[in-house]
Amino acid sequence: MDGPEDREIREDVWISMIEHARRESPLECCGLLTGRGRLVDAIIHCTNELGSPDAFSIPPRELFAAFRRIRESERILLGIYHSHPNGDATPSRRDFEEFHYGGVDCWIVALQEGAPVIRCFSWTARGFIEAEYALAGKGRTRP
Ligand SMILES: [Zn+2]
Repeated sequence: MDGPEDREIREDVWISMIEHARRESPLECCGLLTGRGRLVDAIIHCTNELGSPDAFSIPPRELFAAFRRIRESERILLGIYHSHPNGDATPSRRDFEEFHYGGVDCWIVALQEGAPVIRCFSWTARGFIEAEYALAGKGRTRP
């Protein structure tokens, strides 16, 4: 069973998602989250070939290159993220209809007023179920 409580994401990866979303706003950004076990510790910013404020698609060539990079780094694909520049961090109807990857989480960054919000969802037979996650430290000691 998926234990939602054991997901962790490195804080710098989490911040990098927000920076990417801000840079692409008002268009949606998208990318991949990778790591080992349940810890997301790396991010790959991708191109949104749709250039849209409410949809995203990663170019296949970029995806294949990313998969090679993930394999070479001995990580696994843990999540796909995209932003909702104008909405909240709830899966849209389009996300619901097109995002069907079991075992790969759907992370949504919402750039709403005030602090950005990032929510994580896993795809199940019942649709999206929100997964809790914790921010992990950077794994380095301060010099
Ligand atoms: Zn969406």
